[in-house]
Amino acid sequence: MNTQEIEYLLKQKNIKSTAMRNLVLQYFLTNNKAVALKDLEVAFHYSDRTTLFRTIKTFEEKALIHSIKDGSNTTKYALCNAHCTSENHIDIHPHFYCEKCKTTMCLRKLSIPAMNIGNHFVVHSTEFIVKGICEKCNSIA
Ligand SMILES: [Zn+2]
Ligand SMILES: [Zn+2]
Ligand SMILES: [Zn+2]
Repeated sequence: MNTQEIEYLLKQKNIKSTAMRNLVLQYFLTNNKAVALKDLEVAFHYSDRTTLFRTIKTFEEKALIHSIKDGSNTTKYALCNAHCTSENHIDIHPHFYCEKCKTTMCLRKLSIPAMNIGNHFVVHSTEFIVKGICEKCNSIA
């Protein structure tokens, strides 16, 4: 993906392009799995933690990425649909957590079944995590 395409994706979400933001988005695009702040710190060891953290927060606020709580103690992030907004994520999907390689991935083709939990509840978010062994680890065994 070239710089122009990266900048277009940022612009789509009203995010100003900076060198750091371009690089972080590029990283998300090349990784086909959810990314933890720790992964970014390793990949961008030359830049400071606060900048990385702020980049992630901006991306999340602008609905370029969504956060995933997979039951491990680390919050992970993955790219959103182009039409997601911070008020309305249209890409609500289950996530898969591999207990072997600790990878978390989006199951974008699936949707979370509607649950009727009653009128007196206000739902803000729904997490749906499927745990087990991923394709890759399963083929090694
Ligand atoms: Zn989204
Ligand atoms: Zn695995
Ligand atoms: Zn996801």
